Amino acid sequence: MSAEQYDVIVAGSGLAGSLAAAVAAKGGLKVALLDRNKEEEVGKKTNWGWVCGDAVADSHIQFIKSKLGITFDYPELDVKVDGVLVLSPDLEYKVPFEGAGYVLNRPVFEAKLTKAAIKFGATYMPQFEVEGPIIENNYFAGIFGKDKGMQHKELRAKIVIDALGVATTLRRKLPENPYVDRVVDISDVESTGRYIYDFDVDHEDPKFYDPKNALIHLNQEWSPGGYGWVFPKKGTRVNIGIGVQKQSLDIRNKALNKKDTLHTLMDQYVQNNPVIKNPRLFNENNNGKGYWSVAVRRQLDCLTFNGYLGAGDSMAMPNPISAGGIGPALISGIMAGEQAVRSFQSGDFSVQGMWQYNLDYNQEYGRKTAGLEVFRTYLQSLNNETINYGMKVFLTAKEAEDISYGRIPELSLASKAKIIIQGVSNMNAFNNLRYVIKKMKLLNELYDNYPKSVNDFAKWREMVKAEMEEAKARFPPNPL
Ligand SMILES: Cc1cc2nc3c(=O)[nH]c(=O)nc-3n(C[C@H](O)[C@H](O)[C@H](O)COP(=O)(O)OP(=O)(O)OC[C@H]3O[C@@H](n4cnc5c(N)ncnc54)[C@H](O)[C@@H]3O)c2cc1C
Repeated sequence: MSAEQYDVIVAGSGLAGSLAAAVAAKGGLKVALLDRNKEEEVGKKTNWGWVCGDAVADSHIQFIKSKLGITFDYPELDVKVDGVLVLSPDLEYKVPFEGAGYVLNRPVFEAKLTKAAIKFGATYMPQFEVEGPIIENNYFAGIFGKDKGMQHKELRAKIVIDALGVATTLRRKLPENPYVDRVVDISDVESTGRYIYDFDVDHEDPKFYDPKNALIHLNQEWSPGGYGWVFPKKGTRVNIGIGVQKQSLDIRNKALNKKDTLHTLMDQYVQNNPVIKNPRLFNENNNGKGYWSVAVRRQLDCLTFNGYLGAGDSMAMPNPISAGGIGPALISGIMAGEQAVRSFQSGDFSVQGMWQYNLDYNQEYGRKTAGLEVFRTYLQSLNNETINYGMKVFLTAKEAEDISYGRIPELSLASKAKIIIQGVSNMNAFNNLRYVIKKMKLLNELYDNYPKSVNDFAKWREMVKAEMEEAKARFPPNPL
């Protein structure tokens, strides 16, 4: 049995992992980048392919450029979109969400990031299955797994960066500790699936397919507790899929006496799209059809353990209302790499020594996600009729967009307290929205005061937990 020594081991060569490895290697560290896929399939999440909607805001792409000087173009940026539009269940109202961006050619994009890591000096090991951590004296001391030849292998390092995605085996095998959760609650996870199709245009209808915008359909019957999406790709090709929350799906099926699954709902979503005629699976790289999970909660409260940094989906980073996890994965990967470089300068690999990473990520992206988690829980408690009404009456498009960015439209909402709202359930929903906005503000403030030191973490965490529990108890899923 051999045990190779590195400064940093990056587990998972997806978005977060490749960038973490690139930054750490660029900073002069000896880096091993491990991934279970073959080289030509780098970043593939599961046997079902790269499974993603692949939409990402331009600002996130610019973030990579600003940190690593890498520029992107076609083919990895498959199409440019003006933005994301969220449609109400009755399709009458549209609100913009995030700004201009791209729908990626994901396999090509991933390959480019991994190439960058190799260029900066990381040692890339494809077909390496990471099986678990080596823990010594309550510190990560490396990982063990199986290499290309199926041989048991141990690699050692001062820092392990966990970028294994949502099913990470490393986070799940952390020692019992008061910082990083090992388990994520199932009600905070969406089951998702998508197709990539070429199709004939039956007739134009921008509510169902818009070559210039990424469309999101909110509809509790089509995709209970989640949403459907139609994202344009080059030519007449789409990335089309849905996400559902299991609990909401069960409630919806019971109420409608149906036995729908993610799979049947996905197919209905495609069939019910009046623009898409004669869909043909675009199965390049065997990536035409796939299923996977996305966590839609705030990122884990702490992203570090002794000798351990987590980035991307392994830390439940996707945006709680859009499930957009590409941006957070890119940002956190870069910041985890930067932390690794700093830790080698200080020689301190403890939780406290690597604490700055929590603060950096919080400031760049994480500070808004607890508030957005509350907003997501609220949305999951509304039926289609109330969502229609709310999108029409409660918020202007600008206010809705503000919320999607985690900004709080407090003043204007307060002035709306006097608007006439029809129906008791709508009144309740409006009052609940005001409660949500208040809670979002409070949580944003709590996150603005993210503890500067590990010593203050337990107390802060209790405060966040109490706020979240109160909000979640108030909004049980109620899709119909
Ligand atoms: C259906 C669906 C649609 C989505 N749509 C969007 C969208 O439109 N926009 C958006 O921003 N986000 C979207 N997301 C979320 C986004 O895809 C993820 O947030 C993103 O891929 C996270 O990147 P990552 O690098 O953290 O993890 P991953 O992309 O999951 O990469 C992890 C890597 O680690 C490897 N790995 C895992 N376990 C092991 C192991 N034991 N040993 C070795 N290697 C291993 C994997 O094979 C993979 O290469 C969607 C997700 C899904 C499922």
